[in-house]
Order: sequence, then C-alpha cells, then structure tokens
Amino acid sequence: DLGSSLRGTLDKLRGQSRISEEDVDEVVKEIQRSLLQADVDVSLVMDLSDSIKERALEEEPPGGTTARDHVLRIVYEELVGLVGDSTNLPLEEQTIMLAGLQGSGKTTSAAKMAWWFSKKGLRPAVIQTDTFRPGAYDQAKQMTERAEVDFYGDPDEDDPVKIARDGLEATSDADVQIVDTAGRHALEDDLIDEIEDIEAEVQPDRSLLVLDAAIGQGAKDQARQFEDSVGIDGVVISKLDGTAKGGGALTAVNETGSTIAFLGTGETVQDIERFEPDGFISRLLGMGDLKQLTERVERAMEETGDEEEDWDPEDMLKGEFTLKDMRQQMNALNNMGPLSQVMDMIPGMGGGMMDQLPDDAMDVTQDRMRQFEVVMDSMTEEELENPRSVGASQIRRVAKGAGVSEETVRELLEQHKMMARTMKQFQGMGDGDMQRMMKK
Ligand code: GDP
Ligand code: MG
Repeated sequence: DLGSSLRGTLDKLRGQSRISEEDVDEVVKEIQRSLLQADVDVSLVMDLSDSIKERALEEEPPGGTTARDHVLRIVYEELVGLVGDSTNLPLEEQTIMLAGLQGSGKTTSAAKMAWWFSKKGLRPAVIQTDTFRPGAYDQAKQMTERAEVDFYGDPDEDDPVKIARDGLEATSDADVQIVDTAGRHALEDDLIDEIEDIEAEVQPDRSLLVLDAAIGQGAKDQARQFEDSVGIDGVVISKLDGTAKGGGALTAVNETGSTIAFLGTGETVQDIERFEPDGFISRLLGMGDLKQLTERVERAMEETGDEEEDWDPEDMLKGEFTLKDMRQQMNALNNMGPLSQVMDMIPGMGGGMMDQLPDDAMDVTQDRMRQFEVVMDSMTEEELENPRSVGASQIRRVAKGAGVSEETVRELLEQHKMMARTMKQFQGMGDGDMQRMMKK
C-alpha cells in the first residue's frame, strides 16, 4: 500500500520543527514510487521531485508550522500544479466534440456528459457520427435514452460529416451539442482525416480527448496526434473505476497543454464526476483526501485546544481502544463534522468501508455524547482504561454518581464495545483488503 508508506514517512516528521535533506529525500522517494506506479511520465515525476526538494529545503516554514505540515503543504501545492485545474466548462450554449481511439469510452462519455449537463439545467443532445463501428448507432441511442437526453444519428448514412451537419441542425434546440465520433484500433490516417473533416464541419467550442485510465504512456502519441489535427481543450479519463492508475492522462494533459474535464467511474450514465485536483491527487497517491484531512484536523485542534494536540484520526487504528480514546475521539469528531465524512477522508476507508459497519456503530449524537461525558466523569481511571471489567455493582455506583439510569451506563459500555470491535476490524485489515477498498 503506497499511500500508507508515504503516510508513515510523513508521520516520522511529526513533532520535528526542522527538516533535513534526508527527510525530504525520503518523502520525495515515496511520492515518486506512487506516481510511477500510477503511470505518471518519468520526466514529469522528476521535475516534480526537484521542485519539492528545492522548496522544502529553501522555503522557511511559516511560524508555528511543523516540518510535517510544511512538507505536506509543498507536496500538495506541487501536485496541484502537476494535475492542473479542471477544464473550464461554462454552463452555456456550446458544441463539444469527443475524440479518441476505439474503446476509449467516447460514446459512454458523450451520454454521461449529456446527463451531467441536463442535471445542471441545460438541454443537451448527443450526435452520433460513428459509421465505422457496427452497432455504434444503437449503443448511442440506448445510452442517451437512459440519460433521458436528445439524440441524433442516422444508421443509413455512411458519411460522418453529413451526419454531423444534419445532426447539428436537427438538434438546434439543444443548449449543449455533443458530437461523438468514430475511433479506430490505432492511430490511422483515415481516422485523422475523418476527425479533421468533422471538426471543420462542426467547429466545436471544445474538443475533448477521451482516454482510458489504464492507457499509460501510450497516451503521449495519441495526445500529440489529436492535438496536431484538431486541437485538444480538455481530457476525459474513462474507466477510473477499474484501475488505480490514471497517470497516462497527465501525460496527455502535459502534451496538449490542456486540462482534465471529467472522470468516468463506471458503466452507467450517472458514473461521471467533474475533475477535481484534490480527489485525483489522492487517487494517484493511493491516499485519502490529503488536503481536506489536514485542514479538518487542524481546525478541530484549534477548537479542542491543546489537550488533544497529537490526536490524529488514524490513531484510531492503533493500539488498545479505551473509553478515554472514545471520549477524545468523540470530542474531536464532533468538531470535524459527520463521522462518515471523516472516515471517507482516512486512507483506505472510503464509502465502501462505511457500508460494512453496523448502522449504529458510530452513531453518537451530540446529546448522547454529553450524557456519556457525564457518565465517564463518574468513572475511575481504572474503569476508563478497562471498561470491559466494569461489573454490575460498578454500573450502579456510576449511574448514581452521574445521576443517570443504569441503562445509560450500559449503553455507553455497549457503544464502546461496538466502536472497539470496529477499530479491531480496521486493524485486522490486510493490505489486499485496503487495496480492494480503495478501488470501490
Ligand atoms: P468508444 O469506442 O470510444 O465509443 O468507447 P465506448 O463508450 O463504447 O466504451 C467502450 C467500453 O468501455 C464499453 O464497454 C463501455 O461500457 C466501457 N466503459 C466506458 N466508460 C467506462 C467507465 O467509466 N467505467 C467502466 N467500467 N466502463 C466504461
Ligand atoms: Mg463509440
């Protein structure tokens, strides 16, 4: 698990106020390993490494910043620079042409994007100009039906340029006209000729290159070729649900001087996300959402004061889980927001993980917490450390002391047991499990 070794390296910097060259080297090496594993181009990785090293050693950490936060921030900023912003897509009338090899996910992405625009209140239409692939018309028709958007195609016409022209006219009521094109198995001259002809006819406001996330370095030639023939304004990465990679798309972005527009994350028309640098970086590194996690922890620390200075959500995964831990975590979690959101940000614990928990394992409302606080205040140090040893007579004593029913004390112990069990479950997860979760 690459993310966890990077986290381990960063954790070693915790508590340090200065950072050595060796520390920086170690962090950079972990990042290199993650990025190369995700198929990011070697020269891009090297450039990034140099910038991180230079900045980490030369820039003065702002007052009060730890070495760890300083490095984390630089790493984050450099990665944002690497993946770039989201392609600018104003919610207005426009024509978008999709280009890419056969099987890259153009037709699927066309329907998904149409669905996406329709959810934004615009009226989209898909125009299918693929006369090369048998079944292309039926496929596009079906998918646009599922997306409940307008569609134009002509199964009896074999001139894609004519279909494009007729389609633009037939769907002129639509706000966003998405022109799907044919691909080929490889970059062949007739594909390039065809897409140039369609482009000349359509004169799209934006041309997007659709790439399979697993493409790797093959992306370079494709991107260059399409950039030279029609000009690429943005990249759509499809099939991100099937791979932890996606680095090839960065090569394409770099090669075309463009940005990433959308991510495809499944086979249905709703499986589309607008590209966001944060989430994508986390995916590349195999980590949870770095930026949000650090920000939230920082904010929570400010609110809970010095006492919980060293608290980190990931500590939940280590060691014995006592009532004291439970109290501390409930406090901090309440300052951070809904637990399910926090869990989503912890590496390896995305949505899939939450689904596996018993419904109420983590469901501690504010009122309930205040009650539990009072109960815990009436417990001895020994009882807080060893809640499992608390027997009936102790429950009676604590209930009386706290002014609550014995039932409430039992509920607290029950809640603790459930949380402890959940923590165990996380601890027991092997790397393979983690990876499977990450892919969900
Ligand atoms: P085209 O030839 O470029 O038009 O590619 P298609 O849209 O026909 O997609 C090729 C195959 O990839 C189809 O079987 C799609 O269902 C599948 N596909 C496309 N996008 C995704 C995606 O985001 N996730 C998954 N799992 N499959 C996808
Ligand atoms: Mg197609």
